[in-house]
Amino acid sequence: MFTPAIHPQRAPWSHWRLVENFGHSIRVPAQVFQPATVEQLADLFARARRENVAIALRGSGRSYGDAAMRQGHWVLDLRRMNRILAWDPKTGEITVEPGVTIEQLWRYVLPDGWWPAVVPGTMRPTMGGCVAMNVHGKNNWHAGTFGEHVTRLRVLTPAGDEYELTPDDPRFHTFVGGLGVLGVATSITLRLKRVASGNLDVHAWAVPDLAHMLADLDTYKDRYEYIVGWVDSTAMGWARGRGQIHAANHVPEGEELYPERTLSPDYQVLPDVFFGFVPKAWMWRFMRPFMTNWGVRLVNSAKYWASRWLSHHKTYRQALVAFNFLLDYIPNWERAYRGRGLIQYQIFVPRDEALRVFNEVLRYTQQRGMPSYLAVVKRHRADAFLLSHGVDGYSLALDFPVWPGKERDLVAMLHELDRLVLDAGGRFYFAKDATLTPDTAAAFLGEQALRTFFELKATWDPEDRLQTDLYRRVFAPLRSRLAA
Ligand SMILES: Cc1cc2nc3c(=O)[nH]c(=O)nc-3n(C[C@H](O)[C@H](O)[C@H](O)COP(=O)(O)OP(=O)(O)OC[C@H]3O[C@@H](n4cnc5c(N)ncnc54)[C@H](O)[C@@H]3O)c2cc1C
Repeated sequence: MFTPAIHPQRAPWSHWRLVENFGHSIRVPAQVFQPATVEQLADLFARARRENVAIALRGSGRSYGDAAMRQGHWVLDLRRMNRILAWDPKTGEITVEPGVTIEQLWRYVLPDGWWPAVVPGTMRPTMGGCVAMNVHGKNNWHAGTFGEHVTRLRVLTPAGDEYELTPDDPRFHTFVGGLGVLGVATSITLRLKRVASGNLDVHAWAVPDLAHMLADLDTYKDRYEYIVGWVDSTAMGWARGRGQIHAANHVPEGEELYPERTLSPDYQVLPDVFFGFVPKAWMWRFMRPFMTNWGVRLVNSAKYWASRWLSHHKTYRQALVAFNFLLDYIPNWERAYRGRGLIQYQIFVPRDEALRVFNEVLRYTQQRGMPSYLAVVKRHRADAFLLSHGVDGYSLALDFPVWPGKERDLVAMLHELDRLVLDAGGRFYFAKDATLTPDTAAAFLGEQALRTFFELKATWDPEDRLQTDLYRRVFAPLRSRLAA
């Protein structure tokens, strides 16, 4: 029997619950605890040792796959550990507990003229989740990943030891992006970015095909701090990969008439209604009828032609929140997917191979009758983290509906695409993964990286207490293989 979420005021005792991924395509029973302090966390680890159960850490559950759940075992929901521990508005350095969300962070620091240096496409994730996945933003080419702005971490291991990590400690680059199975980040210190205004100067333009899309993202990455491309994933033939680019820079000091007003959280509000009358809470229901191959094709075409005719080379000023968190405009938009929800598949391909591989990926998904319903391209750089997804190249993120009865076909198709990506020297991102095999992970991560990862895991978590379904699916078989 499954009981509802624990009331935050109550003691953090166990309840069985159904735990889901962001796309509602995976749902597993687990006992969920909500510790509020490091002491409660340590108690839970001690109790898990006695009861011999595995533990998965969880932030806001915004990962698209099985990264923040463990079927039949314990899930520690860390959102109650959400205090700001220290803030210096002169230096822009902030120390927070892991359950602080991106939203909580920007609301706290923006009035002082600061903004998180790296944010994902939604403001719901927690700091712990951002560290564990080492998330990236639309400024990855310039700013690198989230972990590149972390200056200090406190970690509690399942064995009950505590460590402080800084970037000059080699374990730092293993822990960040370490998928939450090495220990719990209990406090995170970040360096933020100075901003003179709460607005960005945005430039939007349409591109007729994938070649133009990639060429423009590359050419203009040095002129703009943020750059991202929306791809019409259903367009075929010569128009394959057409879409729209949005690029933006922070408004420079002295160019905003009322900077304080724009730095206020009240200014950074997303619209309440669409088309002048549809409440945003209802919007996903309006989207539902269009969530079919033909519906998406229709909407994508309309969006593309609107971007060519109505907003080609449009420049405008836009609030930081509105630009960065476009996907938060429509609450629960993922519920518009019918059937069994959605999964995402994000591939990272080196610069010189991206055009060929992305063209082939789009062509293949269309040919198989399983086109992506949302596709986004970004320009990336490589980084020094052990389980990195970064490459000097581009990423293509594809959302796929999971239709009942078609799950096997979808997985088979993605496994074929994995080969294409691997052969091109590409990488994958575990925050967006639901289908990767151990062999594919081993091929892109390499044996040396896996050995280093498992060495730290054996030292900090000798009983293998921290596990997620992602870890069980991809990493546990590799660990056994390397140990044999
Ligand atoms: C609409 C949408 C847009 C997105 N856009 C982007 C994007 O642009 N770029 C990008 O990089 N990602 C993006 N993501 C993915 C998202 O940023 C990551 O999945 C992120 O990790 C989610 O954070 P969370 O708090 O929800 O973590 P969860 O999904 O709950 O957990 C993620 C991982 O963190 C671990 N974890 C959680 N807390 C801790 C802790 N305190 N210590 C150690 N490990 C911990 C968990 O075990 C798990 O492995 C997007 C997701 C959505 C839904």
